[in-house]
Amino acid sequence: MNKLIQSDLNDLDIILDKVKNQGIDYLSSIDKRPTSIKFINQEKRKLNNAGIGTDAALKLFNERFEPIIVSSSGPRFWGYVTGGSTPASIVGDWLATIYDQNTQGITGQGDISANIELETINLLLDLFELPKTFLGGFVTGATMSSFTCLAVARQWIGKTYNKDFAKNGITEKVNILTATPHSSVIKSLSLLGIGSNNIIKVKTIEGNREAISIPNLETKIKELNGQPFILVTSGGTVNTVDFDNFTAINKLKQKHNFWWHIDAAFGGFASCSNSHKHLLKDWEHSDSITIDCHKWLNVPYESAVFFIKEEHKVLQTESFQNSNAPYLGNPLDNFNYLNFLPENSRRLKALPAWFSLTAYGKEGYKSIVENCILMANLLGEKIRKSADFELLAPVILNNICFTLCGEESQDKVQSFLSKLNDTGKVFMTPTFYNNKKGIRASFVNWRTTEKDIDLVFNEMNGIIQSTSE
Ligand SMILES: *Cc1c(COP(=O)(O)O)cnc(C)c1O
Repeated sequence: MNKLIQSDLNDLDIILDKVKNQGIDYLSSIDKRPTSIKFINQEKRKLNNAGIGTDAALKLFNERFEPIIVSSSGPRFWGYVTGGSTPASIVGDWLATIYDQNTQGITGQGDISANIELETINLLLDLFELPKTFLGGFVTGATMSSFTCLAVARQWIGKTYNKDFAKNGITEKVNILTATPHSSVIKSLSLLGIGSNNIIKVKTIEGNREAISIPNLETKIKELNGQPFILVTSGGTVNTVDFDNFTAINKLKQKHNFWWHIDAAFGGFASCSNSHKHLLKDWEHSDSITIDCHKWLNVPYESAVFFIKEEHKVLQTESFQNSNAPYLGNPLDNFNYLNFLPENSRRLKALPAWFSLTAYGKEGYKSIVENCILMANLLGEKIRKSADFELLAPVILNNICFTLCGEESQDKVQSFLSKLNDTGKVFMTPTFYNNKKGIRASFVNWRTTEKDIDLVFNEMNGIIQSTSE
């Protein structure tokens, strides 16, 4: 054995202890770390020939990188839709690394990890109050979840023409109807060979909305003259967290032949709140659902799930089966995740979610979700009452979308946001909504409190005052 590896093995307890203490230091002071740092790393070092051992590598990491790591999993990182890691999820993530299982099948390989994943899927279905008629699995993010769902939808379209697209390629038009798809859905259409330009855009509800217009959807369906199509709907858009009307869509599904997909990457968690679960009413009738776990479930990146109706199992294996490996057997007799999703070898991705769901239960998630909704409404209310800021859209769930008051201030939005982010106390992201430059703040982190809201609103007002002087 290489000497450095041997000595690392001998000192494993000392090394892991150091890392544990460093982790505790980081996690217990995360609210004091800056949310952004101006730094560009241009240095690219060469591979060291002999190696330096883990202790020296840790020192080097701590010199070069650790001080400039930002608190993106802390309480005031409100850009994009950024979660964090609960204590239990960190335990699960560490153990997933330590046990280093290759999560594939449930029989014949002595591998409990796929069973853990299936159990975690069940826990998630319970959390979301979804029926057990969905088959689910873990992928790296909502992008790959939608990719997985839409791959099966693509195969479904083929079947309506008696074609097998997975085997023979796409030979018929794949119609996609959607109103306000997330950019990752469009990326998935590119990857799937459907083509990102081949979207049929449906209008949104008139006025200040991002949700699909049902009358316009009906018009677009009529124009297809009975051709099958895929309907991509939103369970929470990223700008204003608008929800398509799932009850109306479910009624259309009883009359027309289409695959119904819901991107509920973070909006699916509305189901944990008694006051907001109505936003998802009838979502269980969809064919497939995308949910991110590294957002509102607050488990480390990379974690998301897909839910696809079990009745589409054959289409799913046709899309993903690793068919030239005869030792893996018939995909329907011998369950193996590699026949149901993009990856073959994969880590025990479900373990952080399993730990967090088991540790905190439904009540724990209800409190995280309801707290985030409360935080969004607190900041939203401060903005609504302010003479300097205005909301660009009502607060529907956990995001706020706002701008500076007055047409003449539109030129100043970007510099205001830069100044705010440069404080390092908070991070928000720019947007463009309703023909206006705006700013988004999204609340999905378990640590955020009212103190954070007050602190940030003070910073916002301070910047306005200093620029008007
Ligand atoms: C974040 C997000 C995505 C993409 O998720 P990744 O985890 O970054 O792949 C897709 N849809 C919605 C609605 C999102 O919020």
